[in-house]
Amino acid sequence: MSDIEIPESHPRYQSLLTRHRIEAGVEKGITSKQGLIAQGRGEAFDYLLGERTIPSADEAERVSAAYLLLAEHPVISVNGNVAALCPEEMVELAEAVDADLEVNLFNRTEERMEAIVSHLREHGADEVKGLTADGRIPGLDHERAKVDADGIGSADVVVVPLEDGDRAEALGEMGKTELVIDLNPMSRSAQVATVPIVDNIMRAVPNMTKHARDLKGASREELEAIIDAFDADEALAAAEKAIRSGDDT
Ligand code: ATP
Repeated sequence: MSDIEIPESHPRYQSLLTRHRIEAGVEKGITSKQGLIAQGRGEAFDYLLGERTIPSADEAERVSAAYLLLAEHPVISVNGNVAALCPEEMVELAEAVDADLEVNLFNRTEERMEAIVSHLREHGADEVKGLTADGRIPGLDHERAKVDADGIGSADVVVVPLEDGDRAEALGEMGKTELVIDLNPMSRSAQVATVPIVDNIMRAVPNMTKHARDLKGASREELEAIIDAFDADEALAAAEKAIRSGDDT
């Protein structure tokens, strides 16, 4: 996938790069057409946030790193938008916290599943889960309920970026700790998250990896203290305030 020929100094560089990657993802059979719509929605929220990581999102990214480091079996869910936007960064995060990567699609087709698995492998992934599909998330219709029993099915902590609200809710009901990356603080996914990360995935994931590397030597007590100090409702309120008023304090 070739990237755009626009200088990085261009004020809309990140936004144009994002659009280009999603478009290339559709052409490569990785991203669905619905994914284009999801991208448009995300972009609007990012614009209102000032296309930056607000302080409460940075904190949520650090808290997420702490959860991932403490997890018994962390899994990072990847869909068509995520694979198109930041495949290498997902692989790096998975390596930094020793998590599995699992492909999980809203509109599941075997073709797209396989295209995404190959795409992640081209970007450095070793094992990618999702194709076995021998587990089910209770409360969802057949296709959308499919997961790997030894992946998301048995995970205690799951990173769910750009997830649809129904599935995020159903995963929460299974008792999983959900770290949700979603630019819309009012989406159901963000609302049901253990940790809502209201930030663009392109910024959020590298920052989670950086925090995970910084916290690698921290004790269990230190990691638990970071988690205990976090309040999801406050993070959502801070993001909504930043969007509505431009003020993130
Ligand atoms: P819900 O059911 O949770 O209320 P939805 O069905 O509206 O949400 P979708 O449109 O399926 O959600 O999912 C897309 C979500 O992902 C949107 O909330 C959008 O803001 C978010 N999103 C899109 N692109 C990005 C991105 N690059 N980084 C972070 N979030 C994004």
